[in-house]
Amino acid sequence: MDPIVSLLSSLLENVRPLDAGEPAQYIPELAKADPDRFALAVVGPRGVVRSVGDDEVEFTIQSVSKPFVLALAFAMHGRDDVLARVGVEPSGEPFNAISLEPQTGRPANPLVNAGAIATTGLIPGADRHERTRTIVAGLSRFAGRQLTVDESVYESESETGDRNRALAYLMRSYGVLHERVDEVVEAYFRQCSVLVTARDIAVMSGTLAFSGRNPVNNEQVIPESVARDVVSIMTSCGMYDFSGEWLMRVGLPSKSGVAGGLVSVAPSQFGVGAFSPRLDSHGNSVRGSILVERLSREFGMHVFDRH
Ligand code: GLN
Repeated sequence: MDPIVSLLSSLLENVRPLDAGEPAQYIPELAKADPDRFALAVVGPRGVVRSVGDDEVEFTIQSVSKPFVLALAFAMHGRDDVLARVGVEPSGEPFNAISLEPQTGRPANPLVNAGAIATTGLIPGADRHERTRTIVAGLSRFAGRQLTVDESVYESESETGDRNRALAYLMRSYGVLHERVDEVVEAYFRQCSVLVTARDIAVMSGTLAFSGRNPVNNEQVIPESVARDVVSIMTSCGMYDFSGEWLMRVGLPSKSGVAGGLVSVAPSQFGVGAFSPRLDSHGNSVRGSILVERLSREFGMHVFDRH
């Protein structure tokens, strides 16, 4: 067996017995997820994807979409126009917090829901469908294959998404969100409902790790400067109110999602994707986080290790 695959496989089997946490309950379709699904994938600079466990099982991307849609917004509008609408300070608050600057109503950062909704608003489109198409096409370029939306998860998100709607109305009242709330929020729910596998998110993360170049098909998806900006924001804000401890322990810019996906970027080395639906109180995957922590230690991937 390939030595890297056997290492990934032994990491996976060591972490598998841990069964703390449960799938997200606040979106009914996500609560139905099989809690025991478990996968890990990595991609290196030459585009070889290595994966173990349930690596072909699809799940919804959820908040793992946020850094990638942010990258699209940066590439379309430039840094200053994006920063006029959304900040880049860690909020130290949960993903669904009402973290808006008191004077301006600008959301704290693009990786909490408020900031992600403002970012989705920056993606052009005459209506929710056109905006969704642009987003899905962009996410597909990061993954290197055509991705699709799980419409039943979308409907479940939309039915239970009043908190996100409320955040959008607040931002619109401040003038931070210029677009119509329903058009933006429904596109955001579909963005969260895009189906991916652990292999897909490893390749997506690899595209950030290798300066905006998809390592599998070599397409330059976003400019290098955009990849650097996004990875910086993932470093400080990617794990919500666990971002500081995560940086210290694991040392990898990362982003989690409530369906159990987790991406980590080892700059110029690896893109990593993990999947396990059991979540901790921060909404981060329990086994995914432990797996990536051990992987980082095993491969010496901490960004502040002496390489
Ligand atoms: N769709 C979810 C929400 O907006 C995404 C949150 C997440 O993955 N943390 O509530």
